[in-house]
Amino acid sequence: MADPRGFLKTRERQTPPYRPVEVRLTDWRDVVDHRVADEPYLRVQAARCMDCGVPFCHLGCPLGNLIPEWNDLVRQGQWTDAMERLHATNNFPEWTGRVCPAPCETSCVLGINQPAVTIKNFEYEIVEHAWERGEIHPQVPQRLTGKTVAVVGSGPAGLAAAQQLTRAGHTVVVYERDAAIGGLLRFGIPDFKLEKVTIDRRVEQMRAEGTRFRTGVEIGADLTWDALHTRFDAVVVATGATVPRPLPVPGADLAGIHYAMEFLHQSNTVVAGGEVPDQIRATGKDVVIIGGGDTGSDCLGTSLRHGATSVTTLAIGKQPPLERQENQPWPTDPILFEVSSSHQEGGEREYLASTVEFLADDAGHVRALRVAETEYLPGGRRVPRAGTERDIPADLVLVAMGFTGPETETLTAQAGVELTSRGLVARADDFATSVPGTFVAGDAGRGQSLIVWAIAEGRAAAAAADAYLQGETELPAPVRGSTVSLRP
Ligand SMILES: Cc1cc2nc3c(=O)[nH]c(=O)nc-3n(C[C@H](O)[C@H](O)[C@H](O)COP(=O)(O)OP(=O)(O)OC[C@H]3O[C@@H](n4cnc5c(N)ncnc54)[C@H](O)[C@@H]3O)c2cc1C
Ligand code: SF4
Repeated sequence: MADPRGFLKTRERQTPPYRPVEVRLTDWRDVVDHRVADEPYLRVQAARCMDCGVPFCHLGCPLGNLIPEWNDLVRQGQWTDAMERLHATNNFPEWTGRVCPAPCETSCVLGINQPAVTIKNFEYEIVEHAWERGEIHPQVPQRLTGKTVAVVGSGPAGLAAAQQLTRAGHTVVVYERDAAIGGLLRFGIPDFKLEKVTIDRRVEQMRAEGTRFRTGVEIGADLTWDALHTRFDAVVVATGATVPRPLPVPGADLAGIHYAMEFLHQSNTVVAGGEVPDQIRATGKDVVIIGGGDTGSDCLGTSLRHGATSVTTLAIGKQPPLERQENQPWPTDPILFEVSSSHQEGGEREYLASTVEFLADDAGHVRALRVAETEYLPGGRRVPRAGTERDIPADLVLVAMGFTGPETETLTAQAGVELTSRGLVARADDFATSVPGTFVAGDAGRGQSLIVWAIAEGRAAAAAADAYLQGETELPAPVRGSTVSLRP
């Protein structure tokens, strides 16, 4: 039973500090200084969770994490039990504990009139305590089913599905076209948000459990989807939503204009010790990032670490409000103005900025963007307001406007998998595709989303694949294909 008065004794919400900006800009290490988190402070913070009758945080977390239970175990200093409860619903809490936007906290009951419980930070602390104490071991299945499963894509969705299916006794092979395992966790999100050791040690655990990994293999090219279907008893498609949203304005093909993922993939490869000939670098450049989301923010932090002269982030829409609006009441997950660790580090942010054209120098390289103020038409359509154009100098432009969906050409041609009208892999409530024995999880079926959703869908698709292979399943399915989101 939680301390029912804990939240009255400790009103202040406390999370670990960030490392000083001038220090962290000189390296790629985690921006958060977790070393100062000693146990008494965590136990006091955990006591702020009152174990309210209806834990709305469960509803906020797509994984259905057992939040009040592990909060109370932290309060009592029972770290091993807390780790077990955490892993009961989440294969990879070290990733969500670092970079989840924590919709659980926006639906925390304490958050109605006090700062929410520091749920995400407990997730981090519980799992990192367990790694430090050597308590996280491979869970080798007790018996093998003789069934085989191919998982295509090694992002959080593919890895969650693979771990669940391996532990259920199936022989699982993860195919990844990139040179290393991890998907966007490895090649999208920079180390200053997510150090790659967190992926490597999980891959080691999974290998020890029996999961096999094949990197540098593109399904659809190196091995066809129908060959995969013939070779394996079931297939899980977890290929992500990798097609970038283009900006179709004059000059978009000039030298010096790149999609964000080209820039981040190269930078993350080099940070990991790899070599990239002619790497796109921001060093000494005026950088303009088009797009104000997570990807744009990661481009900002990366550009600053490269040593950019200036970095300006442009968003086409209005600046979001600082506080909940009436149409986004508790416990919904509101759209608010966010200041990420990268925004704290430098750069300018501009809103209502519509790019209308890129301007070239004599060598055909971008030298500036022409932007106009965004005008909202009745019905919400956004257009550049005529007569408000101005030029912003730039010698590196990063287009970070999100992703339109998955690459599906070979999947549809070779396997006959059907798509939705938005071009996503169509799925039933249980994540089955239109092709029997083929399932889909993560951004490929959902559209660009979050790590927590990818893990939740990977677990659910694994349960469906297991039921397909064995006639029944004991694997949990935390979400359904048509889950209602708390985002209004
Ligand atoms: C820059 C950036 C920052 C982000 N930051 C955050 C954040 O802070 N918090 C958060 O929650 N979410 C964040 N996200 C979103 C999050 O990373 C994704 O929602 C999540 O990774 C999706 O997981 P996934 O497994 O579906 O796909 P992915 O992680 O995209 O993995 C798909 C994998 O499939 C592989 N693949 C594709 N096609 C094939 C094929 N034919 N054969 C073999 N392999 C193939 C790809 O190479 C890739 O490795 C961010 C996204 C980006 C781009
Ligand atoms: S995974 Fe995200 S939403 Fe779920 S408990 Fe952790 S921080 Fe909250």
